Amino acid sequence: AFFAYAMFIILKQKRLSEVQRDFINNMTHEFQTPISTIKIATDVLAQSKILEQPERFKKYVQIIKQENNRLKNQVESVLATARIGKGQIELDMKLQELHEIIGEVSDSVKAELEDNFTLDLNATKTTINADRMHLMNVIRNLIDNAIKYSGKPPKIKISTRNENNLLIVSISDKGIGIPREALPKIFNKFYRVPTGNLHNVKGFGLGLNYVKEIINLHKWKINVISEMGVGSVFEINIPLPD
Ligand code: ADP
Repeated sequence: AFFAYAMFIILKQKRLSEVQRDFINNMTHEFQTPISTIKIATDVLAQSKILEQPERFKKYVQIIKQENNRLKNQVESVLATARIGKGQIELDMKLQELHEIIGEVSDSVKAELEDNFTLDLNATKTTINADRMHLMNVIRNLIDNAIKYSGKPPKIKISTRNENNLLIVSISDKGIGIPREALPKIFNKFYRVPTGNLHNVKGFGLGLNYVKEIINLHKWKINVISEMGVGSVFEINIPLPD
């Protein structure tokens, strides 16, 4: 029994140190890449001759904006996870118009993906009780993943419908899909599908954990339907207020 226990501890420590190693590797990529890209872009913008090249100027400003956004999202997801872990997130519940929130979140994606992004908003009962900021983050996280885990160009659709007393929001992609055995784990903290050769996308494995926590705090449900090579659908089920 002692041996088994010792093995358990060793295995547990191994897993912990692996998690730590992955976390540090991901940190390096997720934080350092944008920082050094921003540094390079500001170096370019600091050259006086750039003022004679407005197109190049715009391009580098765009790069800085994009990378800064990426950095912001990553820092937010790490901080949100830390706060959730300590039970420090309190929802600010108010009546919200779901379609208006979806519209706001998808503005920038629409600009980026154009015809590869579609909205199919069929629900008619769309007033819900929700924390606006966290709900926006949840939808943004699901859209970001749909883009990250797809080929180019990604094909993404957000749709809504009413079913019984529910409002259902679905975010679907035609991306790489999630292996069946991974499905029960994708919402776990730090979990990432081990398909490094299939997709070369870095991340912390924290986004979906945040999504799940926020969905749980609202007492909503989230389901995933996915098939390898076909795509994934994430569905949020929101009970309508009486
Ligand atoms: P991250 O994207 O930082 O790895 P997430 O918690 O958002 O972390 O997602 C966990 C894992 O679930 C991802 O690493 C990826 O393997 C898988 N995944 C999430 N969303 C999708 C999607 N839309 N299509 C395919 N795989 C996905």
